Amino acid sequence: MTCEFDLAHYRELLEAAKAGGYRFAGFDAPPQAGDLLLRHDVDLSLHAAVRLAEVEVEAGAWSTWFLMTRSVFYNLDSREGEHAVARLRELGGRIAHHAVWPSVDLDERFEPVVAWHNPDPEYMSTPVEGATSVMMSPWFDPDHYRSDSNQHWRHGCPHDALERGEFEWLQLLIHPEIWVYDGQSMAETMQSFLDADRAARLELLRADRIDL
Ligand SMILES: [Zn+2]
Ligand SMILES: [Zn+2]
Repeated sequence: MTCEFDLAHYRELLEAAKAGGYRFAGFDAPPQAGDLLLRHDVDLSLHAAVRLAEVEVEAGAWSTWFLMTRSVFYNLDSREGEHAVARLRELGGRIAHHAVWPSVDLDERFEPVVAWHNPDPEYMSTPVEGATSVMMSPWFDPDHYRSDSNQHWRHGCPHDALERGEFEWLQLLIHPEIWVYDGQSMAETMQSFLDADRAARLELLRADRIDL
C-alpha cells in the first residue's frame, strides 16, 4: 500500500480504522477506548470538504467539519457556503467552528466546539467559554493525536496502526484539500487547488453576467 494523499488512500485509511474495530465519534463527550474522532479543518475549499464527505459516507464513516467564518478563501454566508453546510449535514457530518484567534463566532450553525486555525503555542490550549476546545484535555493528548498537516505525518501514515488497533483512541485531523486535489507534493497539490479555484471563479463571473 502506498501512502499517497489521494482519495483512494483516504478510503483505505477509513477501511483500516474499521478493520481495527474503531467507531466514529464526535466531540460532544470525552473520548472512550475504541473511538476515532475524525476531524476536518476546512482551510481552503468547501468543494473539497463535500467531496471528502462523499467518500466517507460510501465507507460508512462520519466526521466533524470545522468551518471558518473568517476565511479569505471561502464565504460560509454565500449561497455556495450554505449549500455546502447543508450537504455536509445531509452526508452525516457534524458542523463545528474553525476559529481565527481571538475571534469566536459560534452561532446556530455550529455545535459548541472550536478548533483554532494555525494556533500559536501560546493560545493553542486556551479554554473557550461555553465551548469545547479540541486541543484541550480530554479530547487532545499527543499520543492520541495525528495530523496530515502539509502532507507530512510526523509519525508516519497511521493506517497500519489503525488497522492493528494500536491507538486506544485517536483524534485524527485531516485537511480535505490535500487529499482531493492531485499532486506529488504540497506545492503541486496547491497548484491543482488554484487551477480548480480559477475555473470555479470563471463560472461565478459568468453567473454574474460578466462578458468573458
Ligand atoms: Zn497510509
Ligand atoms: Zn486551519
